[in-house]
Amino acid sequence: MGSGNAFQTSVRSLKGVGEARCRSLLQMGISTVGDLLSVYPRGYQNRGNTKKLTEIREEVRNGSAFPFSCLLTVSSQPRLSIIRKNLNILKFRAFDETGSVEVVFFNGKFLKPVFNTGASFRFYGRFSLSGSSFQLQSPVYERVEDGSELPGIVPVYPLSGKLTQKVMFDLTSRALDMVSGETDDYLTGEDLEEYSLISFRQALFSLHRPGSLTDIEAAKKRLVFDELAVIFWLMRRKKEIEQRGNASPVRPAEMSDICSLFSFRLTGAQERALSDILRDMSGEHLMNRILTGDVGSGKTAVAEGAVYAAVRSGYSAVIMAPTEMLARQHFESFTSVFGPRGIGCGFISSSVPKAERRETINGFRSGSLKILIGTHALLSENSPISEAGLAVIDEQHRFGVSQRAALLDKAPSAHSLVMSATPIPRTLTLASYGSLDISRLDEMPEGRLPVQSFIVDESYRKRLNGFIRKNVDEGHQVYVVCPSIEETAENEAEDLADIFLTGTEPEEKIPKRSTAETFSYLKSVFPDLSVGCVHGKMKPEEREPVMESFYRGDTDILVSTTVIEVGVNVPNASLMIVENAEQFGLAQLHQLRGRVGRGSAQSYFIMISGTKSQKSLERLQRIKSTNDGFEIAEYDLETRGPGDFFRENGIIRQHGTPGLELAASCADPSVIGKASSFVSKLASEDPELNSPERKILKNKVTAAEDLNSRTTN
Ligand code: ADP
Ligand code: MG
Repeated sequence: MGSGNAFQTSVRSLKGVGEARCRSLLQMGISTVGDLLSVYPRGYQNRGNTKKLTEIREEVRNGSAFPFSCLLTVSSQPRLSIIRKNLNILKFRAFDETGSVEVVFFNGKFLKPVFNTGASFRFYGRFSLSGSSFQLQSPVYERVEDGSELPGIVPVYPLSGKLTQKVMFDLTSRALDMVSGETDDYLTGEDLEEYSLISFRQALFSLHRPGSLTDIEAAKKRLVFDELAVIFWLMRRKKEIEQRGNASPVRPAEMSDICSLFSFRLTGAQERALSDILRDMSGEHLMNRILTGDVGSGKTAVAEGAVYAAVRSGYSAVIMAPTEMLARQHFESFTSVFGPRGIGCGFISSSVPKAERRETINGFRSGSLKILIGTHALLSENSPISEAGLAVIDEQHRFGVSQRAALLDKAPSAHSLVMSATPIPRTLTLASYGSLDISRLDEMPEGRLPVQSFIVDESYRKRLNGFIRKNVDEGHQVYVVCPSIEETAENEAEDLADIFLTGTEPEEKIPKRSTAETFSYLKSVFPDLSVGCVHGKMKPEEREPVMESFYRGDTDILVSTTVIEVGVNVPNASLMIVENAEQFGLAQLHQLRGRVGRGSAQSYFIMISGTKSQKSLERLQRIKSTNDGFEIAEYDLETRGPGDFFRENGIIRQHGTPGLELAASCADPSVIGKASSFVSKLASEDPELNSPERKILKNKVTAAEDLNSRTTN
């Protein structure tokens, strides 16, 4: 087994790395050979797939926007035209046996000596055809010489400073040479076989110098496995650490007592969750449970049942929500359940006047108030919650782990119940909620009309306005959600043209509707209605009054970004329209849809999209065809891989998780299950990672922990 030293060697020792390049590399966080090889390509160019000019011409005529690769010979000396001081154009003709094309380089003056008549090159770039003018613009070029072979699939690296693709290619080649003798791997040969993975060294070679597209997939799979193994290991460890102290057990409450709190019959799922909770709370360890369930599945009632059991045993309870509005909604709900039973509830947020706050705090301290509900103001200095027996935290992914930890820090002997509306696929529960036991509300309360969903395009705009009018006339309210706040400059997005793997769908450029634009449009269409607008860049004190007005029913139409995603409950809203639906993740769309259909009226969810992409349409179709959040989450994970999923659901942010760049583009979700079972196996065989072959994993885990503690502090 090698020593692993080659990976630790400074990049300075690579031929071609001097002072300047060293600085550029450092900008990307690269100081060792190992660092350099862990800079993964942004994508690849399939230059080996060369086509003849007639073929390309035909495809371009049919509208293809892909870059193509071709082998051409220069047939005319390059001509340089100086347009103005900073703009010159170099043009020449090149041919193959099927035809010829004009090759154009903007500011290509310095290339003039490169392209001599009779010389052959492999070109890779986009073609254009207008009238009889067939052009190839600013292509990548490689000299074709007898005897030397050009690579078929060429990696495209992220760059910084003065680095170029060519330099990165050469440096990674030298780095690969250096580590070619290293055989260190924390996975044994048996492991590799069991999980059908390739070795780490082989993965690096395949990723940087793939012979085929399959090579790239195999490499990604292995490296994603590594990323996930580290995360899962950290999560598992966290679970052990977070097994908090002993509890003062709660007297078991009768389910029938709890049921009598509500005017409705609890669903089976609610009862199951409650019996999990009652069992946890009557045990000798503190409860550490998460309650997940779609919006509208009735998490609040479960929390109220748990609070009831705690209060009945003489404990007090705190409930923390991420926004003032949500906290107030909880306060109203709790007051209506507990008030009539003589159990006092208090409310705290930064908008409550000081004197009133003090009174509430004193009431809670003295025990006249048993339940305290609020925002993060609950964490303030003279917070009275240290004696609380139960802490309920709503919508935790908005808070992040740190706020949860802060609350539990203040209430060290409280059982904890976290509520989240983000449905997490089973395979990801460990990574997402490593430290928590899970209850799922996978059943909706009876008697609700499922929301009807539709996908429409711009041609429906008029009818849509009629539909808005109809809903408002019937006394209901309407949400309109937009992907952005203001008109953004076109083409600000990086041009990813050059990194498409030939054969994948080119990215669509669909103009995005902004809240600003939509707000003024709707005001002009509905001058007699009250239209409000909220977005994430507004300060909470600007946003809250608009939300309040919608909540009270004073606003008919609310235009917003996804800020309304979080638990807002306006049962009177019967219609939600989403502009540019293709811009949203499935989990997000599903969350948004949960804002309607909360009352007794039939509700509608209308996704507007001009997308022509088959993939996008399929995704939207999925939202249309099911209302089950868990099913949508599984599908989302399957089609996009774990990285995007983690990112969108705030899991990456939440745990300050390092890496996962690759997971974003890994198409094979089976790797999640593999990493998860590997970690479980390892946990029982070698819980301290003491055996020599696992040392590399141990180092990775330690490094990730360091990074984690640095990013979360
Ligand atoms: P969420 O899970 O999104 O927090 P809520 O707790 O806000 O859902 O519940 C949504 C609505 O459903 C509330 O108006 C609540 O009173 C009602 N509800 C909850 N459980 C039931 C049930 N078992 N039967 C009927 N209605 C219920
Ligand atoms: Mg809720």
